Amino acid sequence: MKEFELALKIGKELTGDILQEAAGKALGVPPAKVGHIEVVRRSVDARQEILYRYRVQAYRQGEPFEPYKVAPYQDVHDKEPVIVIGAGPAGMFAALRLLQLGLKPIILERGKDVERRKVDMAKLSTEGALNPDSNYCYGEGGAGAFSDGKLFTRSSKRGDIREVLHQLVAFGASEDILTDAHPHIGTDKLPEVVKNIRRCIEDHGGEYHFDSRVTDIESGFTVKTAGAEYKARKVILATGHSARDIYELFRKKGWTLEAKGFALGVRAEHPQWLINQIRYHGKYQPFMPTAEYSFVQQVEGRGVFSFCMCPGGILVPSSTEEGTVVLNGMSNAERNSKWADAGVVVQIEPGDQPEGYEGPFALLDYQRDIERAMYRWAQEHGAKHPFAAPAQRMKDFCRGIVSKDLPRTSYHPGAISAPLHELLPEHVSARLRKAFPQVDRSMKGYYTNDALLLGVESRTSSPVRLPRNPETLEHVDVPGLYPCGEGAGYAGGIVSSALDGINCAETLAKSI
Ligand SMILES: Cc1cc2nc3c(=O)[nH]c(=O)nc-3n(C[C@H](O)[C@H](O)[C@H](O)COP(=O)(O)OP(=O)(O)OC[C@H]3O[C@@H](n4cnc5c(N)ncnc54)[C@H](O)[C@@H]3O)c2cc1C
Repeated sequence: MKEFELALKIGKELTGDILQEAAGKALGVPPAKVGHIEVVRRSVDARQEILYRYRVQAYRQGEPFEPYKVAPYQDVHDKEPVIVIGAGPAGMFAALRLLQLGLKPIILERGKDVERRKVDMAKLSTEGALNPDSNYCYGEGGAGAFSDGKLFTRSSKRGDIREVLHQLVAFGASEDILTDAHPHIGTDKLPEVVKNIRRCIEDHGGEYHFDSRVTDIESGFTVKTAGAEYKARKVILATGHSARDIYELFRKKGWTLEAKGFALGVRAEHPQWLINQIRYHGKYQPFMPTAEYSFVQQVEGRGVFSFCMCPGGILVPSSTEEGTVVLNGMSNAERNSKWADAGVVVQIEPGDQPEGYEGPFALLDYQRDIERAMYRWAQEHGAKHPFAAPAQRMKDFCRGIVSKDLPRTSYHPGAISAPLHELLPEHVSARLRKAFPQVDRSMKGYYTNDALLLGVESRTSSPVRLPRNPETLEHVDVPGLYPCGEGAGYAGGIVSSALDGINCAETLAKSI
């Protein structure tokens, strides 16, 4: 096998003939002697002429090629039960691995199935009615179900990313995710994938229990919800970073928790056409992929970075509690809205919080108070929607001026002109105000008053860690309990949470 690179002008189709000829050249054989050809990666190169770059593996005729295979799922109707709390990426992929290993997942999910959940999210955006158990973070598919569905992770050390991607394709995602350098599924496609995962788990003997918020975990284990009790020797706890009631449960039980750094800032929303022009140097054509961006800056010794950028996306209210304003972004597979949004955040470490915030909940309480301050400001200044967000034009924010008017936004609950530069903690605001003009040096046109900043982007990762034994992955105080995914503080994003789910399930199975 020989691996080689191929570049084609964007818009030009990669045909079988082109591939065969290039593969022949790479192998040093006539095209007719080429066997299997596999495109393993596709990326956009917009540095000069805009190109698709392909990484291709070519095999000689007769040379064996092993396609990637996902291990089969076993029938687990009569097998040992394992309780999985939370049906987000970590919980779902843990459950799939349990099936592969012959264990029966019993999934307890506080929210609703993905179809019923859509109704609650629509009510939240339009009427401001928040269901505390069914919203943009809670319900089948977790926080990942109504998202951009970006599937890249910076860390490949966590496990085999291909396994997650191949399973997603088997459950209905486009095969493009196997090759795209920055794969994404899109919020319009994700619910079907999530439903197919459920069908697979149930068909093989696993169980789903919706509307089942876990309220207690007794040693042994007996796991309690409002109306039922479930028993198992092992429990995977994959409740995500917004499940503050689970952290409270740990505190009540005296089980160790630790404060952990997270990132805090704003959502920046630009017109997508502007980002397209910036990224493609004014050469954007409608057939090109909607442009993305990402950046990391160092400002006064701290990382300021873009987070979860949604090209052609919309902003959504992702609060899980009344009286708080939290934003996040999502987009369809086509990424075809008029807006480009991204979190732009500053890394916060334990010790950055003001006096009065102490112990393992220090950063969680700090995070919540900032979300509440956003809510209060908006409500005290004439907001018509309970999740309306304080907002400021980008240059006004950096200059410390309240904006006279605001550009249109995709954020349905609405934006209300505010001194966001004062509402954010000074150490965050000051760094962001320096970072935006700095970003403009590499992305000319990014620093503009046509961009709107909305507050607050605070749920970047968990501000609490549930520490686990590095070998067994069990909680340090509770053998048999596996804190897992983003909520445990060991993952961030869909893929890394899914991989953590797989790792927890595998380690758990070895211990049985
Ligand atoms: C709008 C939005 C867009 C995003 N876009 C992307 C993206 O494009 N790419 C990306 O990589 N990441 C994205 N993220 C982040 C990503 O969704 C999370 O990192 C990921 O979902 C974490 O997975 P998890 O399984 O650990 O937790 P979660 O997805 O948070 O799942 C936890 C589950 O546990 C359930 N639960 C909580 N408490 C209880 C309880 N007491 N009892 C029973 N069940 C409970 C919740 O209802 C939830 O379903 C986005 C997040 C949001 C909100």
